[in-house]
Amino acid sequence: MQSLLDRFIGYVRQDTRPDESSDACPSTHLQKIFAQKLADELKTIGLTEVTLSDHGYVMATLPSNIKTQRPVLGFIAHMDTSPEAPSEKVKPQIHRKYNGNDIALDEHKGIILSPRDFKEMRNYKGQTLITTDGSTLLGADDKAGISEIVTSMEYLISNPALKHGKIRIAFTPDEEIGRGADKFDVEGFEADFAYTLDGGKIGELEFENFNAASAVIIIKGRSVHPGTAKGTMINSIKLAHEIDAALPARERPQFTSDHEGFFHLYDIKGTVEETIMKYIIRDHDSERFKERKKTVEDVVIRLRKKYKKAEVLLTLKDQYFNMKEIIEANYFIIDEAVKAYRKASIEPEIKPVRGGTDGSRLSFMGLPCPNLFTGGHNYHGRFEYIPLESMEKAVEVIVNLSTSETFPKQ
Ligand SMILES: [Zn+2]
Repeated sequence: MQSLLDRFIGYVRQDTRPDESSDACPSTHLQKIFAQKLADELKTIGLTEVTLSDHGYVMATLPSNIKTQRPVLGFIAHMDTSPEAPSEKVKPQIHRKYNGNDIALDEHKGIILSPRDFKEMRNYKGQTLITTDGSTLLGADDKAGISEIVTSMEYLISNPALKHGKIRIAFTPDEEIGRGADKFDVEGFEADFAYTLDGGKIGELEFENFNAASAVIIIKGRSVHPGTAKGTMINSIKLAHEIDAALPARERPQFTSDHEGFFHLYDIKGTVEETIMKYIIRDHDSERFKERKKTVEDVVIRLRKKYKKAEVLLTLKDQYFNMKEIIEANYFIIDEAVKAYRKASIEPEIKPVRGGTDGSRLSFMGLPCPNLFTGGHNYHGRFEYIPLESMEKAVEVIVNLSTSETFPKQ
Protein backbone atom coordinates (compact mmCIF):
# COMPACT_ATOMS: atom_id res chain seq x y z
CA MET A 1 0.00 0.00 0.00
CA GLN A 2 1.24 3.49 -0.81
CA SER A 3 1.37 5.61 2.32
CA LEU A 4 -1.14 8.40 2.70
CA LEU A 5 1.69 10.91 3.03
CA ASP A 6 3.50 9.83 -0.16
CA ARG A 7 0.27 9.81 -2.10
CA PHE A 8 -0.65 13.30 -0.92
CA ILE A 9 2.83 14.70 -1.67
CA GLY A 10 2.66 13.18 -5.16
CA TYR A 11 -0.73 14.80 -5.84
CA VAL A 12 0.08 18.29 -4.60
CA ARG A 13 3.18 18.43 -6.81
CA GLN A 14 0.91 18.33 -9.86
CA ASP A 15 -0.42 21.72 -10.85
CA THR A 16 -4.18 21.50 -11.43
CA ARG A 17 -5.26 25.12 -11.37
CA PRO A 18 -8.47 25.95 -13.24
CA ASP A 19 -8.94 28.84 -15.64
CA GLU A 20 -12.08 30.91 -15.33
CA SER A 21 -11.52 32.55 -18.71
CA SER A 22 -11.83 29.21 -20.50
CA ASP A 23 -15.23 27.80 -21.47
CA ALA A 24 -13.84 24.29 -21.82
CA CYS A 25 -14.52 21.55 -19.28
CA PRO A 26 -12.13 20.87 -17.71
CA SER A 27 -10.99 24.45 -18.02
CA THR A 28 -7.31 23.47 -18.16
CA HIS A 29 -5.38 20.61 -19.74
CA LEU A 30 -3.44 20.30 -16.46
CA GLN A 31 -6.54 18.85 -14.84
CA LYS A 32 -7.02 16.34 -17.64
CA ILE A 33 -3.45 15.07 -17.14
CA PHE A 34 -4.07 14.63 -13.43
CA ALA A 35 -7.43 12.95 -14.08
CA GLN A 36 -5.76 10.41 -16.37
CA LYS A 37 -3.12 9.63 -13.74
CA LEU A 38 -5.82 9.17 -11.10
CA ALA A 39 -7.84 6.87 -13.34
CA ASP A 40 -4.73 4.75 -13.95
CA GLU A 41 -3.99 4.60 -10.25
CA LEU A 42 -7.55 3.56 -9.38
CA LYS A 43 -7.27 0.63 -11.81
CA THR A 44 -3.90 -0.32 -10.34
CA ILE A 45 -5.21 -0.51 -6.77
CA GLY A 46 -8.05 -2.75 -7.91
CA LEU A 47 -11.14 -0.58 -8.32
CA THR A 48 -13.55 -1.50 -11.11
CA GLU A 49 -15.75 0.45 -13.58
CA VAL A 50 -13.07 3.15 -13.75
CA THR A 51 -14.15 5.86 -16.18
CA LEU A 52 -12.71 9.18 -17.27
CA SER A 53 -15.27 11.31 -19.09
CA ASP A 54 -14.45 13.74 -21.89
CA HIS A 55 -15.06 16.50 -19.37
CA GLY A 56 -12.45 15.19 -16.97
CA TYR A 57 -14.68 13.49 -14.38
CA VAL A 58 -13.16 10.34 -12.91
CA MET A 59 -15.47 7.70 -11.45
CA ALA A 60 -14.80 4.22 -10.06
CA THR A 61 -16.40 1.42 -8.07
CA LEU A 62 -15.40 -0.63 -5.08
CA PRO A 63 -17.69 -3.64 -5.53
CA SER A 64 -19.69 -4.95 -2.58
CA ASN A 65 -18.17 -7.91 -0.71
CA ILE A 66 -21.38 -8.99 1.02
CA LYS A 67 -24.48 -10.84 -0.11
CA THR A 68 -27.02 -8.59 1.56
CA GLN A 69 -28.23 -5.41 -0.10
CA ARG A 70 -26.93 -2.10 1.20
CA PRO A 71 -27.43 1.38 -0.26
CA VAL A 72 -24.73 2.57 -2.66
CA LEU A 73 -22.53 5.11 -0.95
CA GLY A 74 -20.47 7.74 -2.79
CA PHE A 75 -17.36 9.78 -1.92
CA ILE A 76 -16.43 12.85 -3.94
CA ALA A 77 -13.49 15.26 -4.02
CA HIS A 78 -12.25 17.86 -6.50
CA MET A 79 -9.01 17.81 -8.50
CA ASP A 80 -8.46 21.51 -9.11
CA THR A 81 -6.87 23.92 -6.66
CA SER A 82 -7.70 27.56 -6.00
CA PRO A 83 -6.75 30.10 -8.69
CA GLU A 84 -6.37 32.74 -5.94
CA ALA A 85 -2.74 31.85 -5.16
CA PRO A 86 0.23 30.59 -7.20
CA SER A 87 0.11 26.82 -7.68
CA GLU A 88 3.04 26.16 -9.97
CA LYS A 89 5.79 23.87 -8.65
CA VAL A 90 4.35 23.26 -5.20
CA LYS A 91 7.19 22.18 -2.90
CA PRO A 92 5.55 20.65 0.15
CA GLN A 93 7.54 20.73 3.39
CA ILE A 94 7.13 18.00 6.00
CA HIS A 95 7.58 18.95 9.64
CA ARG A 96 7.64 15.82 11.81
CA LYS A 97 6.94 16.09 15.56
CA TYR A 98 5.90 19.73 15.26
CA ASN A 99 7.17 21.57 18.34
CA GLY A 100 4.40 24.17 18.58
CA ASN A 101 6.59 27.11 17.52
CA ASP A 102 6.90 29.26 14.40
CA ILE A 103 7.64 27.49 11.13
CA ALA A 104 9.86 29.41 8.71
CA LEU A 105 8.36 28.67 5.31
CA ASP A 106 10.96 30.84 3.59
CA GLU A 107 13.68 32.10 5.87
CA HIS A 108 15.17 34.49 3.31
CA LYS A 109 11.90 36.21 2.56
CA GLY A 110 10.79 36.07 6.18
CA ILE A 111 7.60 34.13 5.44
CA ILE A 112 6.65 32.60 8.78
CA LEU A 113 3.74 30.34 9.62
CA SER A 114 3.13 31.26 13.24
CA PRO A 115 0.72 30.01 15.93
CA ARG A 116 0.43 33.68 16.96
CA ASP A 117 -1.44 34.29 13.70
CA PHE A 118 -2.99 30.83 13.40
CA LYS A 119 -3.82 29.69 16.94
CA GLU A 120 -5.11 26.30 15.89
CA MET A 121 -1.57 25.21 15.02
CA ARG A 122 -1.07 24.65 18.76
CA ASN A 123 -3.58 21.77 18.65
CA TYR A 124 -1.15 19.82 16.49
CA LYS A 125 1.94 19.84 18.69
CA GLY A 126 3.79 16.54 18.26
CA GLN A 127 2.06 15.78 14.94
CA THR A 128 3.37 15.81 11.37
CA LEU A 129 2.50 19.10 9.66
CA ILE A 130 2.71 19.51 5.91
CA THR A 131 3.17 23.09 4.74
CA THR A 132 4.17 25.05 1.64
CA ASP A 133 7.58 26.64 1.06
CA GLY A 134 5.92 30.05 1.21
CA SER A 135 5.77 30.60 -2.55
CA THR A 136 2.56 28.74 -3.50
CA LEU A 137 -0.58 27.31 -1.98
CA LEU A 138 -0.37 23.69 -0.82
CA GLY A 139 -3.44 22.31 -2.54
CA ALA A 140 -4.70 20.23 0.39
CA ASP A 141 -7.96 21.73 -0.88
CA ASP A 142 -8.74 19.28 -2.29
CA LYS A 143 -5.84 16.90 -2.91
CA ALA A 144 -6.22 15.88 0.74
CA GLY A 145 -9.78 14.75 -0.03
CA ILE A 146 -8.60 12.74 -3.02
CA SER A 147 -5.71 11.16 -1.06
CA GLU A 148 -8.07 10.20 1.75
CA ILE A 149 -10.62 8.62 -0.56
CA VAL A 150 -8.05 6.65 -2.60
CA THR A 151 -6.21 5.49 0.53
CA SER A 152 -9.40 4.32 2.22
CA MET A 153 -10.43 2.39 -0.91
CA GLU A 154 -7.02 0.73 -1.03
CA TYR A 155 -7.33 -0.08 2.65
CA LEU A 156 -10.72 -1.73 2.17
CA ILE A 157 -9.37 -3.75 -0.78
CA SER A 158 -6.41 -4.95 1.32
CA ASN A 159 -8.65 -5.88 4.24
CA PRO A 160 -11.42 -8.05 2.80
CA ALA A 161 -12.53 -9.03 6.30
CA LEU A 162 -14.06 -5.54 6.46
CA LYS A 163 -17.52 -5.92 4.95
CA HIS A 164 -19.04 -3.17 2.85
CA GLY A 165 -21.68 -2.57 0.20
CA LYS A 166 -21.00 -1.07 -3.20
CA ILE A 167 -19.00 2.17 -2.98
CA ARG A 168 -18.72 4.73 -5.77
CA ILE A 169 -16.10 7.44 -5.90
CA ALA A 170 -15.80 10.51 -8.13
CA PHE A 171 -13.21 13.21 -8.69
CA THR A 172 -14.41 16.41 -10.34
CA PRO A 173 -12.69 19.31 -12.13
CA ASP A 174 -13.23 23.07 -11.77
CA GLU A 175 -14.87 23.18 -8.35
CA GLU A 176 -12.97 26.33 -7.43
CA ILE A 177 -14.50 28.24 -10.32
CA GLY A 178 -17.99 27.01 -9.41
CA ARG A 179 -18.41 24.47 -12.19
CA GLY A 180 -17.63 21.21 -10.41
CA ALA A 181 -21.20 19.95 -10.58
CA ASP A 182 -21.88 21.18 -14.13
CA LYS A 183 -21.09 17.96 -16.00
CA PHE A 184 -21.47 15.56 -13.10
CA ASP A 185 -23.40 12.54 -14.35
CA VAL A 186 -25.59 11.90 -11.29
CA GLU A 187 -27.44 9.07 -13.01
CA GLY A 188 -24.26 7.40 -14.18
CA PHE A 189 -22.79 7.73 -10.70
CA GLU A 190 -25.63 5.56 -9.39
CA ALA A 191 -25.11 6.29 -5.71
CA ASP A 192 -28.03 6.65 -3.30
CA PHE A 193 -26.22 9.48 -1.54
CA ALA A 194 -22.67 10.71 -1.18
CA TYR A 195 -20.25 12.73 0.92
CA THR A 196 -17.88 15.35 -0.43
CA LEU A 197 -14.48 15.43 1.27
CA ASP A 198 -13.83 19.12 0.94
CA GLY A 199 -14.12 20.56 4.44
CA GLY A 200 -11.45 22.11 6.63
CA LYS A 201 -10.09 21.13 10.02
CA ILE A 202 -10.66 17.81 11.76
CA GLY A 203 -14.22 17.39 13.07
CA GLU A 204 -16.01 19.73 10.65
CA LEU A 205 -19.28 18.41 9.31
CA GLU A 206 -21.35 20.58 7.01
CA PHE A 207 -24.77 20.24 5.47
CA GLU A 208 -25.95 23.80 5.42
CA ASN A 209 -24.82 26.44 2.95
CA PHE A 210 -26.06 29.81 1.76
CA ASN A 211 -28.95 30.49 -0.55
CA ALA A 212 -27.31 32.68 -3.14
CA ALA A 213 -28.36 35.24 -5.73
CA SER A 214 -26.65 37.89 -7.77
CA ALA A 215 -28.04 41.36 -8.51
CA VAL A 216 -26.77 43.61 -11.26
CA ILE A 217 -28.10 47.15 -11.27
CA ILE A 218 -27.53 49.40 -14.27
CA ILE A 219 -28.31 53.07 -13.75
CA LYS A 220 -28.54 55.37 -16.74
CA GLY A 221 -28.21 59.06 -15.95
CA ARG A 222 -27.92 62.15 -18.09
CA SER A 223 -24.64 63.94 -18.63
CA VAL A 224 -24.73 67.71 -19.09
CA HIS A 225 -21.92 70.28 -18.92
CA PRO A 226 -21.52 70.88 -15.17
CA GLY A 227 -21.65 74.66 -15.74
CA THR A 228 -25.18 74.48 -17.04
CA ALA A 229 -26.36 71.33 -15.30
CA LYS A 230 -28.85 72.88 -12.90
CA GLY A 231 -32.10 70.98 -13.07
CA THR A 232 -31.00 68.75 -15.94
CA MET A 233 -28.02 66.60 -14.96
CA ILE A 234 -28.77 63.16 -13.58
CA ASN A 235 -25.56 61.76 -12.10
CA SER A 236 -25.90 57.99 -12.10
CA ILE A 237 -23.01 57.68 -9.62
CA LYS A 238 -25.01 59.59 -7.00
CA LEU A 239 -28.02 57.36 -7.62
CA ALA A 240 -25.78 54.36 -7.04
CA HIS A 241 -24.78 55.88 -3.69
CA GLU A 242 -28.43 56.20 -2.77
CA ILE A 243 -29.11 52.58 -3.62
CA ASP A 244 -26.25 51.29 -1.52
CA ALA A 245 -27.12 53.61 1.37
CA ALA A 246 -30.69 52.28 1.33
CA LEU A 247 -29.49 48.74 2.09
CA PRO A 248 -28.96 47.80 5.76
CA ALA A 249 -25.47 49.04 6.64
CA ARG A 250 -24.67 46.26 9.12
CA GLU A 251 -25.67 43.47 6.77
CA ARG A 252 -22.42 43.26 4.90
CA PRO A 253 -19.84 40.43 4.84
CA GLN A 254 -17.44 42.29 7.11
CA PHE A 255 -20.08 42.59 9.87
CA THR A 256 -21.70 39.14 9.72
CA SER A 257 -20.93 35.56 10.76
CA ASP A 258 -22.59 32.16 11.43
CA HIS A 259 -26.19 32.31 10.21
CA GLU A 260 -26.24 36.04 9.37
CA GLY A 261 -26.86 36.85 5.74
CA PHE A 262 -25.74 39.90 3.78
CA PHE A 263 -25.79 42.15 0.73
CA HIS A 264 -22.34 42.51 -0.77
CA LEU A 265 -21.45 45.20 -3.30
CA TYR A 266 -18.34 43.70 -4.89
CA ASP A 267 -17.99 45.69 -8.10
CA ILE A 268 -19.00 49.17 -9.18
CA LYS A 269 -18.03 51.18 -12.24
CA GLY A 270 -19.55 54.48 -13.08
CA THR A 271 -19.66 57.74 -14.98
CA VAL A 272 -22.35 60.41 -14.89
CA GLU A 273 -24.01 58.67 -17.84
CA GLU A 274 -23.99 55.13 -16.56
CA THR A 275 -23.13 53.18 -13.41
CA ILE A 276 -23.10 49.41 -13.05
CA MET A 277 -23.31 47.89 -9.58
CA LYS A 278 -22.82 44.20 -8.88
CA TYR A 279 -24.05 42.58 -5.68
CA ILE A 280 -24.23 39.13 -4.24
CA ILE A 281 -27.05 38.33 -1.82
CA ARG A 282 -26.66 35.53 0.73
CA ASP A 283 -28.80 33.98 3.48
CA HIS A 284 -29.10 30.49 4.96
CA ASP A 285 -32.80 30.94 5.65
CA SER A 286 -34.93 30.65 2.54
CA GLU A 287 -37.61 33.10 3.78
CA ARG A 288 -35.06 35.73 4.71
CA PHE A 289 -33.34 35.09 1.39
CA LYS A 290 -36.58 35.95 -0.42
CA GLU A 291 -37.00 39.06 1.72
CA ARG A 292 -33.48 40.18 0.83
CA LYS A 293 -34.21 39.94 -2.87
CA LYS A 294 -37.46 41.84 -2.30
CA THR A 295 -35.54 44.55 -0.41
CA VAL A 296 -33.29 45.13 -3.42
CA GLU A 297 -36.32 45.24 -5.72
CA ASP A 298 -38.09 47.73 -3.47
CA VAL A 299 -35.06 50.02 -3.31
CA VAL A 300 -34.87 50.05 -7.10
CA ILE A 301 -38.60 50.75 -7.43
CA ARG A 302 -38.36 53.67 -4.98
CA LEU A 303 -35.45 55.13 -6.93
CA ARG A 304 -37.32 54.85 -10.22
CA LYS A 305 -40.20 56.80 -8.68
CA LYS A 306 -37.89 59.46 -7.31
CA TYR A 307 -35.88 59.95 -10.52
CA LYS A 308 -38.39 59.50 -13.31
CA LYS A 309 -35.92 60.64 -15.97
CA ALA A 310 -33.24 58.14 -15.00
CA GLU A 311 -33.33 54.53 -16.03
CA VAL A 312 -32.68 51.88 -13.37
CA LEU A 313 -32.43 48.28 -14.51
CA LEU A 314 -32.23 45.33 -12.14
CA THR A 315 -31.30 41.75 -12.98
CA LEU A 316 -31.70 39.30 -10.08
CA LYS A 317 -30.46 35.75 -10.57
CA ASP A 318 -30.53 32.79 -8.19
CA GLN A 319 -27.14 31.07 -8.05
CA TYR A 320 -27.54 28.13 -5.64
CA PHE A 321 -29.62 27.05 -2.67
CA ASN A 322 -29.12 25.75 0.85
CA MET A 323 -28.88 21.96 0.73
CA LYS A 324 -30.23 21.76 4.29
CA GLU A 325 -33.77 21.05 3.12
CA ILE A 326 -32.60 18.11 1.01
CA ILE A 327 -30.35 16.73 3.73
CA GLU A 328 -32.96 17.14 6.46
CA ALA A 329 -35.29 14.88 4.51
CA ASN A 330 -32.51 12.28 4.60
CA TYR A 331 -31.11 13.09 8.03
CA PHE A 332 -29.72 9.58 8.57
CA ILE A 333 -26.82 10.67 6.31
CA ILE A 334 -25.76 13.10 9.05
CA ASP A 335 -26.50 10.62 11.87
CA GLU A 336 -24.27 8.11 10.12
CA ALA A 337 -21.50 10.66 9.70
CA VAL A 338 -21.72 11.59 13.38
CA LYS A 339 -21.45 7.91 14.30
CA ALA A 340 -18.48 7.43 11.95
CA TYR A 341 -16.71 10.45 13.50
CA ARG A 342 -17.31 9.26 17.08
CA LYS A 343 -16.10 5.75 16.24
CA ALA A 344 -12.86 7.46 15.17
CA SER A 345 -12.87 9.41 18.49
CA ILE A 346 -13.66 12.71 16.79
CA GLU A 347 -16.31 15.06 18.15
CA PRO A 348 -18.23 16.40 15.16
CA GLU A 349 -18.50 20.15 14.82
CA ILE A 350 -21.57 20.95 12.76
CA LYS A 351 -21.52 24.44 11.33
CA PRO A 352 -23.08 26.31 8.42
CA VAL A 353 -20.93 26.94 5.35
CA ARG A 354 -20.78 30.63 4.46
CA GLY A 355 -20.57 29.89 0.79
CA GLY A 356 -21.67 27.16 -1.57
CA THR A 357 -20.31 23.68 -2.11
CA ASP A 358 -20.52 21.33 -5.04
CA GLY A 359 -22.38 19.09 -2.63
CA SER A 360 -25.18 21.63 -2.41
CA ARG A 361 -25.62 21.63 -6.17
CA LEU A 362 -25.39 17.84 -6.35
CA SER A 363 -28.02 17.65 -3.60
CA PHE A 364 -30.42 19.62 -5.79
CA MET A 365 -29.48 17.41 -8.75
CA GLY A 366 -30.76 14.38 -6.79
CA LEU A 367 -27.64 13.28 -4.92
CA PRO A 368 -27.83 14.32 -1.24
CA CYS A 369 -24.28 15.27 -0.42
CA PRO A 370 -23.05 16.73 2.91
CA ASN A 371 -19.42 17.73 3.38
CA LEU A 372 -16.81 16.03 5.59
CA PHE A 373 -13.50 17.43 6.87
CA THR A 374 -10.23 16.82 5.05
CA GLY A 375 -8.10 18.21 7.91
CA GLY A 376 -6.55 21.26 6.22
CA HIS A 377 -6.26 24.88 7.34
CA ASN A 378 -5.82 28.30 5.67
CA TYR A 379 -7.02 27.17 2.26
CA HIS A 380 -6.38 29.18 -0.92
CA GLY A 381 -3.10 30.70 0.18
CA ARG A 382 0.56 30.22 1.00
CA PHE A 383 -0.13 29.63 4.71
CA GLU A 384 -2.11 26.49 3.94
CA TYR A 385 -1.11 23.51 6.09
CA ILE A 386 -2.47 20.11 7.04
CA PRO A 387 -1.62 17.67 9.84
CA LEU A 388 -1.06 14.12 8.60
CA GLU A 389 -2.88 12.78 11.66
CA SER A 390 -6.08 14.65 10.65
CA MET A 391 -5.87 13.09 7.20
CA GLU A 392 -5.51 9.65 8.78
CA LYS A 393 -8.66 10.34 10.78
CA ALA A 394 -10.51 11.26 7.59
CA VAL A 395 -9.49 7.90 6.11
CA GLU A 396 -10.83 6.22 9.25
CA VAL A 397 -14.14 8.09 8.87
CA ILE A 398 -14.50 6.95 5.23
CA VAL A 399 -13.78 3.36 6.26
CA ASN A 400 -16.29 3.61 9.13
CA LEU A 401 -18.99 4.95 6.81
CA SER A 402 -18.23 2.32 4.15
CA THR A 403 -18.53 -0.52 6.66
CA SER A 404 -21.55 0.83 8.57
CA GLU A 405 -24.35 -1.71 8.83
CA THR A 406 -26.99 0.78 9.85
CA PHE A 407 -27.69 2.76 6.68
CA PRO A 408 -31.40 2.34 5.94
CA LYS A 409 -32.22 0.41 2.78
CA GLN A 410 -33.19 2.65 -0.11
ZN1 LIG B 1 -12.30 22.65 -2.00
